[in-house]
Amino acid sequence: MSVLNAARTLAATEGVEVAEDLMLAQCTTYRIGGPADLVVTADTYAGLVRTVRVLTEQGVPWVVLGRGSNVLAADAGYRGCVIRLGREFSRISVDGCMLTSGAAVLLPKLVNESLSRELSGLESCAGIPGTVGGAVSMDAGSRHQWIGRVVRDVVTFKPGVGMRRHLGSEVEWGYRWCSIPADEIILEATFELTPSTKQAVAAEMNRRMARRRATQPIGKPCCGSVFKNPGDRSVGALLDSCGVKGMRVGGACVSERHANFVVNEGGATASDVVGLIDAMHDAVKGRYGVDLTPEVKFLGFEG
Ligand SMILES: Cc1cc2nc3c(=O)[nH]c(=O)nc-3n(C[C@H](O)[C@H](O)[C@H](O)COP(=O)(O)OP(=O)(O)OC[C@H]3O[C@@H](n4cnc5c(N)ncnc54)[C@H](O)[C@@H]3O)c2cc1C
Repeated sequence: MSVLNAARTLAATEGVEVAEDLMLAQCTTYRIGGPADLVVTADTYAGLVRTVRVLTEQGVPWVVLGRGSNVLAADAGYRGCVIRLGREFSRISVDGCMLTSGAAVLLPKLVNESLSRELSGLESCAGIPGTVGGAVSMDAGSRHQWIGRVVRDVVTFKPGVGMRRHLGSEVEWGYRWCSIPADEIILEATFELTPSTKQAVAAEMNRRMARRRATQPIGKPCCGSVFKNPGDRSVGALLDSCGVKGMRVGGACVSERHANFVVNEGGATASDVVGLIDAMHDAVKGRYGVDLTPEVKFLGFEG
């Protein structure tokens, strides 16, 4: 594989910006992670198609990142290319109760748009710091409401094929998972919302934000929930009962506010976080015999 060739070719390509050896700490809300060989921001669809073609020709592995708010990046970084979506994927348009959003739009912006248009359906996304692409890919939301429920359709780029449209009703939406194939890049999603009033939408969003402020370590670098709830049980309650709050490895610490949040208290490494995640897992396994599954995605740990 030749990262160098790919970097040279892409640097001369219209519609893409290339950064070499950018620290993944700058691309994730954990503020953790070593350098990625390449980080490419594709500002146009043509730029994205060309990026993937060049990377494939040069045998360079790639991954798409949104806001990096559900990702722990390895201390050694990522041997490959991180693709991010830029300008052309950062627009919102409105048609009656339909909001169409580029994948790079930050979820809080989309949520605010729904509020100002007096449209209900995205309240469960209030306070989630990801992008629309990341949220659709993860089927983000709360325990009982998730974004997939209001997706009318999703436009993706399938490498080697081109654009594809998935009807929301044909996509399987699961717990922090959806059936859109992992090799497809989400470009845009249309959300079918319900007419409401500003007061009603704002009240529901404020209720959810107040709950977050009361129970989560707001403002601290983290990835949100570390583990998924096992079945109907609350992972936060299981972890709390094992006394993990305040447990620390290096600069990483289990939040005193929420036992399922690991925060970077400053200078935490990915191996600190992994050490803590292992200890949390083992505490629950030892006491309850339950094998917790991480919700956080790991980048650069393979191989
Ligand atoms: C403080 C805090 C609170 C949070 N609260 C919640 C919550 O209440 N509910 C919840 O569900 N999550 C929550 N999260 C987790 C996270 O914000 C969501 O999972 C979010 O949807 C991830 O979006 P992202 O853009 O950051 O994706 P990333 O973290 O960048 O990526 C996540 C996954 O999506 C894939 N992906 C990203 N963009 C695309 C794309 N365009 N096409 C295809 N795949 C893509 C990535 O490859 C990766 O596998 C929280 C995180 C934090 C830091």
